[in-house]
Amino acid sequence: MSITADPSMSIQPDPLKLDAWRSLPAAQQPNWPDPAVLREVAQTLAGMPPLVVASEVDALTARLGQVARGEAFLLQGGDCAETFATSSQADIAGKVRILLQMSVVLTYGASMPVVKLGRMAGQYAKPRSTDLDAFGLPSYRGDMVNELHGDVAARTPDPHRIMRAYSTAASTLNLLRAYAGGGLAALEKVHAWNTAFARNTETGNRYEQLAAEIDRAVRFMRACGVHDAALDGVELFASHEALILEYERALTRVENDGNGARAYDLSGHFVWVGERTRQMDGAHLDFVSRIANPIGVKLGPTTTPEFAAELVERLDPDGVPGRLTLISRMSNSKVRDALPPIIEKVQSTGHLVVWQCDPMHGNTEETADGVKTRHLDRIIDEVDGFFDVHAGLGTHPGGLHVELTGDDVTECIGGTADLTAADLGRRYETACDPRLNIEQSLELAFRVAERLVA
Ligand code: PEP
Ligand code: MN
Repeated sequence: MSITADPSMSIQPDPLKLDAWRSLPAAQQPNWPDPAVLREVAQTLAGMPPLVVASEVDALTARLGQVARGEAFLLQGGDCAETFATSSQADIAGKVRILLQMSVVLTYGASMPVVKLGRMAGQYAKPRSTDLDAFGLPSYRGDMVNELHGDVAARTPDPHRIMRAYSTAASTLNLLRAYAGGGLAALEKVHAWNTAFARNTETGNRYEQLAAEIDRAVRFMRACGVHDAALDGVELFASHEALILEYERALTRVENDGNGARAYDLSGHFVWVGERTRQMDGAHLDFVSRIANPIGVKLGPTTTPEFAAELVERLDPDGVPGRLTLISRMSNSKVRDALPPIIEKVQSTGHLVVWQCDPMHGNTEETADGVKTRHLDRIIDEVDGFFDVHAGLGTHPGGLHVELTGDDVTECIGGTADLTAADLGRRYETACDPRLNIEQSLELAFRVAERLVA
């Protein structure tokens, strides 16, 4: 589905052309039944406080600059689709814990700072390959748009859901901030992040040993009188796909800091454009080209080196390391051939980008029963291929982008627990794509840490 929105919706003067996207083809936008209601919701949202502030966004750009220069690693993870019903304290704490566990494995294993970015507090909209699902109902497009369960009425896009997305993002961020600064993230809690479930697994055991070493080191530092904020909390940033442009636009604010006016999309710190909406002449790339946030673009196997180079010139005109993250999602069988010419071409432009590997979206498969899953072997193989390619070119394998949950779900197969297709029915809870469970996430983190030191 592709619609061009009504350009007359922009009534304010718009020197930064934040509404230019309205006259461009916008892929994957819902067929909102009543444009007047949508307009009303967007106006209400534009008057609400932003979810993050510009100084935090700039801080993330600086951290990603370190990643682009090869001095840090980016870990980004969370649900494929966050839902309102799975935004409870337990859900959020579970995801924060596994992100902290993974980042500790990476920091300790690779002796490299890890930038922590949740796919959280805004990941409520999904692009879909078909307008109708297998039952002939309008496809579920994320909680910001329609309802996962139910009939045609439930699946009809409802603009009021955009306000619920905003308030769920606000309460999620509130908890994220509290956890990041308020104790849960202190390094003394390194054992507590390991859930009872994970502790009894082979990988969880491996984590316990590492946690014991960290514990000893922290106690030693405390005894020496070291009281550093870095031991007491973490910087945790929030990201989502910039899909529903009305939401992103309504939360965009223009800041004037003396160096001229800059627009920030304050719906989150980092937003990315997905594989299905990255048309060079489309609305999504136009919109993100005009905001000052660090941004990402997914690159699938059809990406040409020329497209990638044009993208970099277009989205990073000022050459700011950390401004642009290129997220490759090639599949394990294609990454080794498809990625090198893209990296070489981008290198030749002189721009310094973050290279991030999404080993999930190229490796989705269906079981004989038609259940969507991913095999951990293929996920690890794509990550290995990504590291091999960067080792061959002398570039920095900057980051990992994964879909995960803090629960003991059975959605992806493989791993040390050796989940098979027969296990999928036990706890298959995702609203969209299959996610790594805690043990699989940890296993992947250990693998990446090994590659980072090699
Ligand atoms: C996603 O990240 O959930 C997604 C839809 O990815 P992609 O755009 O790479 O297909
Ligand atoms: Mn997904």
